[in-house]
Amino acid sequence: MGDTRVGLVIEDDHDIRELVRVVLTQAGFDVRAASSGAEGVLAAKELDPAVITLDLGLPDIDGFEVARQIRQFSDAYIVMLTARAEELDTLIGLESGADDYLTKPFRPRELRARVAAMMRRPRSTPDLTEEAGSPSAAANEGRKYAHNGLDLSYDSRTVAVDGQELSLTRTEFDLLHALLEAGRMVRTKADLVRRLRDEPYDVGSYISEADERSVEVHMGNLRKKLGDSAQNPRWLQTVRGVGYRLAPAED
Ligand code: CA
Repeated sequence: MGDTRVGLVIEDDHDIRELVRVVLTQAGFDVRAASSGAEGVLAAKELDPAVITLDLGLPDIDGFEVARQIRQFSDAYIVMLTARAEELDTLIGLESGADDYLTKPFRPRELRARVAAMMRRPRSTPDLTEEAGSPSAAANEGRKYAHNGLDLSYDSRTVAVDGQELSLTRTEFDLLHALLEAGRMVRTKADLVRRLRDEPYDVGSYISEADERSVEVHMGNLRKKLGDSAQNPRWLQTVRGVGYRLAPAED
């Protein structure tokens, strides 16, 4: 595979598959496609893609199950492509491990922007040729956080709770990092959506209610992995109607 990153399109609709192929090719990916869920899981295993677009309505297994299976072995950025009527279902998709979603018909520009933003966020196994020299990587170098028995190292993209290393998705890691960085300052859900899109916090771009709900789902997943409690949080405190912040330090 060399230096070229692989993008995998899992989609049974020929026209959409070709459209996504064009977008990802233009974004510099070596694009492979699968037209069923089972084929997609196999391809993900073989190709170790950096990005996967996943259709929710596949002929064999549904997109939720495909995401769940791929998440067992891959930290690829998974973006679900769903029909508008399925928008609520996307939350289930995020629970099953997808990072993001777009509703069809989507603008190719939107998909390109999402993928580009995600590729600026490093993966757990840093690709040195990609990260070295990038300003955000340099600024974050050596940044480590410790809070109530949780340790996060930005450099190695690792998180441990009471010395036990956890496996987080890139999105979960970035959300946790954003809260640790903010300290006791509240991060609104819109802030966090912008963070995941690699936009400045105060840019004022439009964030939909569904986007904010997707942050809630990722936070729920993160909470589960950390073994944190929403009622009596050790790390992730919900600020009702606003967003999240870090729970106070324990004595
Ligand atoms: Ca379909």
